Amino acid sequence: MRMTPLSTLSLLTAAIGFSLASTAQAARPPAPDLSNSEFQQCLDRLKNSSKFRGVDSYTFNNYRPTQPDPSVIQSLNYQPEFQKDVWDYLSALVDKERVEDGIRAKRQWSDTLRQIESRYGVKAEHVLGVWGVESNFGQTLGKKPLFESLATLSCFDRRQSYFQGEFANALKIVQNGDIAPSDMTGSWAGAFGQTQFMPSTFLELAVDFDGDGRRDLVNNVPDALASTANFLDNRGYRTGEPWGYEVKLPDGYWAASNRKDKKSMSHWRNQGLTLANGSPLPYDLSSVGLLLPAGVEGPAFLVGKNFDTFYSYNASENYALAIAHLSDLITREDSSKTDFITAWPTDDPGISRQQAKDIQQALLDAGYDIGGVDGIIGDNTRTAIQQYQSSRGIFPADGRAGQKFHRLIMGNSASSNAQGSNQYGQPANSKPLTPAPADRMGQLIQQQTTTTPSTPSYASPNQPTSNIRYRRVVGSDGVTRLIRVDEGS
Ligand code: CA
Repeated sequence: MRMTPLSTLSLLTAAIGFSLASTAQAARPPAPDLSNSEFQQCLDRLKNSSKFRGVDSYTFNNYRPTQPDPSVIQSLNYQPEFQKDVWDYLSALVDKERVEDGIRAKRQWSDTLRQIESRYGVKAEHVLGVWGVESNFGQTLGKKPLFESLATLSCFDRRQSYFQGEFANALKIVQNGDIAPSDMTGSWAGAFGQTQFMPSTFLELAVDFDGDGRRDLVNNVPDALASTANFLDNRGYRTGEPWGYEVKLPDGYWAASNRKDKKSMSHWRNQGLTLANGSPLPYDLSSVGLLLPAGVEGPAFLVGKNFDTFYSYNASENYALAIAHLSDLITREDSSKTDFITAWPTDDPGISRQQAKDIQQALLDAGYDIGGVDGIIGDNTRTAIQQYQSSRGIFPADGRAGQKFHRLIMGNSASSNAQGSNQYGQPANSKPLTPAPADRMGQLIQQQTTTTPSTPSYASPNQPTSNIRYRRVVGSDGVTRLIRVDEGS
């Protein structure tokens, strides 16, 4: 739940767009140097300002951060280096794993979901779709301490006024006793809990469904699911209506994507549209708009009011489509095929999170410093893919992780393993690996592998032999990293 335009840069949502990747220059600005005395003066001012009138001084002083967190300002100003195609975005959000998790969750929480459906009129699978996309069914809640993040954003850079309100609201949530202070962690922008509500949305719409007197959207699943249903209901959800349908356009049809221009089903029938499988359009939606995420050549959708309520959760059509599609697959209880009936207009479809992890592991094994294996294709991974592509003369070296790249690197990875070679060599054209700073070394708890002087595990003419050594380690955060341990021969 990110109710603001900057929200699309937060927790799990990468940018959505259609342009080709172009440059490998890092787009992340350096962490700013924030003055702590300026920060503390700002907090003193805020404490006495009208926005914080409902926060008592015990709460303010108790949760007042001692330092600002410069990384959230970095995130605020982050411009993604690579744009993501809609098929890449959806294939990561609606993959076999997430559908299976959703089917399991539906069975586990069936009684609760039935009660929620009868109280709020929201279909169980629509609630599950939001839950799955927002927090991976409660598994990914975000780890940034909320008070530090929101206080920093309240005192520096853009949008201070907005974040001051959210900071005050976050303090009120703890003051009310709804959420334990130690559970107040989330995305850098302050969305938190299983529903990823911003604090203002929490105060407006969170509900105590299990009746224990607390609205706990972090630890209590019934509270979280009911709050999601309450949110959708509040944004105009229509009981009993589907979100919409995948449809088929008649041959030669041209239209612009315009979800908001809603027309009757008869209108679309007269235009020659059918369901994607060729059946006639049903009449169970009073007014629907045409959504074409990749133009007339890709999958097409007619979407109604309930789709708009998904959209209001995060102000992105592709995000809303992920919820809609995930909820359909959970309804059908079928994880075998997560594609739409009409294929995306590409000969290189997107990959699942498991395939993303495969690629990341293969890149790590080939010596690229991508940080860790998390199944999220971010700028580090894309830059490494671009370098890998360049080193092998692949055109375009666009840094994209699609099915073709997955096949390529897995094929190479399998053949190099078959030769018994498992070196972490520095590939040609790769940026130098960065030695671990001293403070990071302190966190390393498990040394997995020590490498020997590297030799490339694949043939490449003109490739200089590197004598840099790397050690692969797993940090206390569970993330695998390559650490340079030696240089020279
Ligand atoms: Ca409760």
